[in-house]
Amino acid sequence: MAKVNEDFLKLSGGYLFPEIARRTKKWQEKNPGEKVLRLGIGNTTEAITPGIAAAMHHKIDLLSDRNTYTGYGDEQGDTPLRKALSEFYKREYGVSLEAEEFFVSDGAKADAANIQQIFSQDSIIAVQDPAYPVYVDSNVAGGRSEGYDEKERQYKNLVYMPSNESNGFVAEPPKGHVDLIYLCFPNNPTGAVATKEQLKKFVDYAVKEKAIIIYDAAYCDYIRTPGYVHTIYEVEGAEKVAIEINSFSKNAGFTGVRLGWTIVPFGLESDNAETGTIHRLWNRRQCTYFNGASNISQAGGLMALSEEGRKECRTLVDYYLGNAAIIKEGLEKAGLVCYGGVNSPYVWAKAPRGMGSWEFFDFLLEKAHVVVTPGEGFGKSGEGYVRVSSYGHREDVEKAVKAIVEHIND
Ligand code: PLP
Repeated sequence: MAKVNEDFLKLSGGYLFPEIARRTKKWQEKNPGEKVLRLGIGNTTEAITPGIAAAMHHKIDLLSDRNTYTGYGDEQGDTPLRKALSEFYKREYGVSLEAEEFFVSDGAKADAANIQQIFSQDSIIAVQDPAYPVYVDSNVAGGRSEGYDEKERQYKNLVYMPSNESNGFVAEPPKGHVDLIYLCFPNNPTGAVATKEQLKKFVDYAVKEKAIIIYDAAYCDYIRTPGYVHTIYEVEGAEKVAIEINSFSKNAGFTGVRLGWTIVPFGLESDNAETGTIHRLWNRRQCTYFNGASNISQAGGLMALSEEGRKECRTLVDYYLGNAAIIKEGLEKAGLVCYGGVNSPYVWAKAPRGMGSWEFFDFLLEKAHVVVTPGEGFGKSGEGYVRVSSYGHREDVEKAVKAIVEHIND
């Protein structure tokens, strides 16, 4: 008889967003006709910008004519897009990477989940706490944990790097040995950003321990304050120890279009194979499991990297940053302690009066009719916080913030 993969059974409920939906639905049933204001989810809301939309329309026209039709592309991505990504890193960040080091994908989430497959089963994994849940869950499903420890409220065998007020939400490298380190800056959920000096400590650690950093830079376009790192490759030596994952979701509004990329440098080193093997294995993995990103999305991505496209992305990101500023200012006016919200689309707000994450979630839903995300859902260091997302129409964000300010002391 077929048996299921028991490592998948070790995944705890995945309960965050379903639980938010359940509580919101229950409240809505009790309060029919009342509008819920949603600042919970990291999903973009504004239209694709005109030049990028036109490039995708044009690609559809080409596909609609047998003389210009194209079917499968390269699994690694279209050559012009890989070249444009390489030029973009050089132009905007002064970083030199070969076009062949870029693997175009249908988004950062899948790459963040899949990258662990090319590393040894007995790898020790370190994650920031709190963190985007994909890093933890994919490694649990990948067989690197003996299961969830209910008492500790963490998975066994994983190394958690606490990010909290005392370290400004930028964790220190692990004390002992680990093999893979997941980092995300600007951080989801805390909104923290990292400097070159802070990341250098991780690169030095990785060199010393022969570890690999998996750096998720999905929100790097939100960085507007000089001095923070957009790509880990700005840090000297990172090309030997870091893989970077990125996306067009949050700067070009491609959450539904789907397009991202992963950089796997040729020079990455590992303990048991020659230099170049990690690049070769990711290429092999992608060619086996993936058939290339949509050619329509890639036409949009190519445009997004052009001068005109970059201006459009900037305008779009400015809109969400404007929302983030309204949220931060409003919540601070309401007396809440807030982090993030600058150089990031997320405001990390401390629950008042000693409330827990879920308690504050219920309070905001009940009193202000606003849905946020309980911080605890991202890891136990998120307890006592909520993540407030700037992804929403300006008018809804303003209404939600006004409601919070009015009802915070109810
Ligand atoms: N990485 C982080 C840190 C995210 O917060 C998200 C989405 O919210 C993703 C990756 C997913 O990106 P994509 O839409 O490209 O799959």
